[in-house]
Amino acid sequence: MTHAKHGLRLDLRTLILVLCALTAVVMLCASYFASYRVQRQLLIDHALEANRVYAMKLATITETFIDNALQQLSFSADVQGRQLGDAVALQAESDRVLNQSMAFNSTFVIDANGVLLAVSPAPLRHLVGRHMQSPGVQEALRARHPLVSTPYVTAANNLVVALSQPIFDSNGRYLGYVSGSLYLRERNILNSLLGEHFYKDGSYLYVVDRNRRLLYHPDRQRVGTVVEGNALIDQLATLGSGTRQVTNSLGVEMLAGFATVPSAGWGVVAQQPLTQTVAPLSHLILNVVGTSAPLALVGSLLLWWLAMTIARPLWQLAAGARSMDRAGTAERLRRVPAWYFEAAELKRALLFGLNLLHERIGRLNRDAQTDPLTGLGNRRNLEFSLSLLEAEGRAFAVIVLDIDHFKRINDSHGHEMGDQVLRRLAELMSRCCREGDLLCRTGGEEFLMLLPEASLEVAAVIAERLRVTVQDTPVEPVGAVTVSLGVARWDGEADSEPGDALSEADRALYRAKQEGRNRVVVA
Ligand code: GH3
Ligand code: MG
Ligand code: MG
Repeated sequence: MTHAKHGLRLDLRTLILVLCALTAVVMLCASYFASYRVQRQLLIDHALEANRVYAMKLATITETFIDNALQQLSFSADVQGRQLGDAVALQAESDRVLNQSMAFNSTFVIDANGVLLAVSPAPLRHLVGRHMQSPGVQEALRARHPLVSTPYVTAANNLVVALSQPIFDSNGRYLGYVSGSLYLRERNILNSLLGEHFYKDGSYLYVVDRNRRLLYHPDRQRVGTVVEGNALIDQLATLGSGTRQVTNSLGVEMLAGFATVPSAGWGVVAQQPLTQTVAPLSHLILNVVGTSAPLALVGSLLLWWLAMTIARPLWQLAAGARSMDRAGTAERLRRVPAWYFEAAELKRALLFGLNLLHERIGRLNRDAQTDPLTGLGNRRNLEFSLSLLEAEGRAFAVIVLDIDHFKRINDSHGHEMGDQVLRRLAELMSRCCREGDLLCRTGGEEFLMLLPEASLEVAAVIAERLRVTVQDTPVEPVGAVTVSLGVARWDGEADSEPGDALSEADRALYRAKQEGRNRVVVA
């Protein structure tokens, strides 16, 4: 059957649903992806900016510390300049500067020839009087101005950065310098300022001097080493302050904020790994999904409902089109809620087509069972009606009639006139019967009347009335016409057939002819 063949094919409802589902999935994925990208960029931007601000702040703190320290040393340089000959006073002032604040790990005074005049703390005192050769000392002697040294290794084998102020006499003659140093690999003020800022997100801070040497780094082992191959550090001096996404020396992608300490030419870099920064993203996205899921569900239900509503009329119209031949289809089609243009057009076209079909079939049926000359039923109609009556077991009376001497009418007035008589007789027959009776023309000028439920007596009366009517109704120019009639009845019992009743009626008609025509004979 065609149904089975079409069953394999997707229907519109499924197609729309698939389309909607696809659209929803694509839209959701797109929005999740967009949300992911936006959130990620937000996290990155935020981290970069936070690191920049943090680096700026620490650079400022460091700058302030250096200014303060240089200020202290400047004051001390004045004091020491006035008492260079007094070793005890020199030592006392050196101790004072060391102890008055946490700024330095050691303080010392060196004369213009590089000889150590005083040093604090006490354990270093054995060096007093020595000629100091370390690069930092040479640098300070050469500079003769306030200085933050490049890191160097001291005679006591410490990696240090030394802050120094020159000493001049009242004539402006250079006498040497006072200095305070920070032990980079030990606990120092820089560590205290910068080091307590470990965050759980893996962020950390480091400080480099203008030669890319690490002055501070959470990994103490790296302090004092020169950082190679880091584009950010290479450009730090020229960039000043800002943010960068960089790959660090371990190949880890980092979000860095940086700033410089102008007085020392140092760079402060605060950074955190990209992966750790965007780690909360999965959680965020899950949140987004969780928040949007109920909405998406509602949306999907809405789409599903809409798909059903769109598909239903077409689906019902299709079902109607498939069963055009079945009863009630027109009614079913009429009830289809065709609420949009295409469905309405299809519905209209289907109803129109169905109507046309039924009209045509109805007319064909009628034509097939109608005698064209008289408009009465033909033999096919008779057989159909008989089979119905037999199926229902419905009793009926039957009258067969035949025009008397019809051949003569034909002969004397022509075939046309004969036909006229036939039509006239059909009219008279119609007048004499009830609704529900069947009138047939079964042969040339032979007719039959089926009277359902009628008794033999009633049928006889009707036959007689018809006979009289025909006899009393002349057809001009033929004049009076008469008919002979035979009447019989089928009682609806199963032991006989309707055909038997017809044969009986025929025999009665034959007898009527035999007995002189223009009469009724009841079987
Ligand atoms: P009766 O029945 O009284 O014995 O005599 P009858 O002259 O009627 O005899 P029969 O029934 O044998 O003749 C039937 C005639 O009806 C034969 C034919 O010329 C004529 N006839 C049959 N069909 C038609 C028709 O459709 N139109 C016309 N005009 N004549 C027809
Ligand atoms: Mg005849
Ligand atoms: Mg006849």
